[in-house]
Amino acid sequence: MKAEILSVGTELLLGDIVNTNAQYLSKRLAEMGILVYHQSVVGDNPQRLQEAFAEAFKRSDMVVTTGGLGPTKDDLTKEAAATYFNKKLTLDSEAFRQIQAHLSRGNRVVTEAHKKQALFPEGAVVFYNEVGTAPGCATEKDHKIIINLPGPPDEMTHMFEKAVVPYLAKYQDGVLVSKVLRIVGIGEASMAQRVDDIISQQGNPTVAPYAKDSEVILRITARAGSREEGENLIAPMEATIRERLGEDIYGEGDTSLEGETVKLLLNKKQTLAVAESCTGGLVASLLVNYPGISAAFMEGLVTYSNEAKIRALRVNPETIEKFGAVSEETAREMAEGIARRAGTDIGLSTTGVAGPEGGTPEKPVGLVCLGLYLKGEVRSKQMSLTGNRNHVRSKAATAAIDWLRR
Ligand code: ATP
Ligand code: MG
Repeated sequence: MKAEILSVGTELLLGDIVNTNAQYLSKRLAEMGILVYHQSVVGDNPQRLQEAFAEAFKRSDMVVTTGGLGPTKDDLTKEAAATYFNKKLTLDSEAFRQIQAHLSRGNRVVTEAHKKQALFPEGAVVFYNEVGTAPGCATEKDHKIIINLPGPPDEMTHMFEKAVVPYLAKYQDGVLVSKVLRIVGIGEASMAQRVDDIISQQGNPTVAPYAKDSEVILRITARAGSREEGENLIAPMEATIRERLGEDIYGEGDTSLEGETVKLLLNKKQTLAVAESCTGGLVASLLVNYPGISAAFMEGLVTYSNEAKIRALRVNPETIEKFGAVSEETAREMAEGIARRAGTDIGLSTTGVAGPEGGTPEKPVGLVCLGLYLKGEVRSKQMSLTGNRNHVRSKAATAAIDWLRR
């Protein structure tokens, strides 16, 4: 089964919106083992829609469209699909009932235009819309399939997962089983180096890297006859990757660095306070994302000025004078200061040059120092981070939380 994606909408051609629907569909279809060789974009124009279908079916067995299912005159993707397959449009009474119900909940009146949204090419499988008004559909003729989905991304993704995935099951051979490993503390490039041979050898399972925020994700995907068979294919590959990346892998599946770190603190029954300068509260904010944190996280201070570091954390003015506010020495005193102030087992600190201004040859933009106080012992480290102000801040906060875990 070869598929392609046809995104419909004049706004896309004008560059007013980004084509996130095509990205989503490509990714999901690939994960389902359905090959996508082409993506195209066409305006809301009947003539050009016919041309686009004709072009697409020279190459593919299935065309997935998004957009143009609305009630207005310029929404005509379904009509174009019917014309292309030489089918009449017929009313689906259940779809019409649902559209009426949806509109009456918002106190809106049903017009003739809304009725158009309940018309489908004859024999189509209708995908009801649980999020908005426009239902989608799949129409088949002579081993060709057109799938019409709405344009608004929340409606499109909801419909895809709820209705299209089950509809497509019969076109998939076997199942796809995948597992996600989450990596932090090393960039995508250095991770790629360590597992390059694994990524480039595309057998079964395949391994694909994705960079996401401050972490890297490795997805292992196996094609198999059953779920169990897929898991058995994944296990040895996962073991090899774990051997190479060790504790740089912080978790698997649906989790987060702060979640895993907090779980660790709670297990060890350790309490934590943070003192932040360049991260401006980001470390505290990330930690607080995790709902069970209150048993471990006691206090966070943003001590941005030297004066605040001295007053609130009792950093020695001479330390700042001699080594600078951005120094491992200051970071250590900040970490110890916040732990003593809050009475916690652990004190964590950040201080750095986030940029874009304020760097010097000795202390360039991106230089960040971290301090970690743990039951009487203080450690520090320094990092050179790249990117704009927000990148530096977010990488520094991630690195600080990551340090707690190691
Ligand atoms: P509606 O009932 O809202 O008119 P529709 O199915 O007719 O839905 P469009 O009118 O084509 O869809 O698009 C509606 C909105 O959905 C657009 O204004 C845009 O915000 C979003 N949208 C459409 N296509 C895409 C796309 N390919 N990627 C991301 N967003 C999109
Ligand atoms: Mg529309």
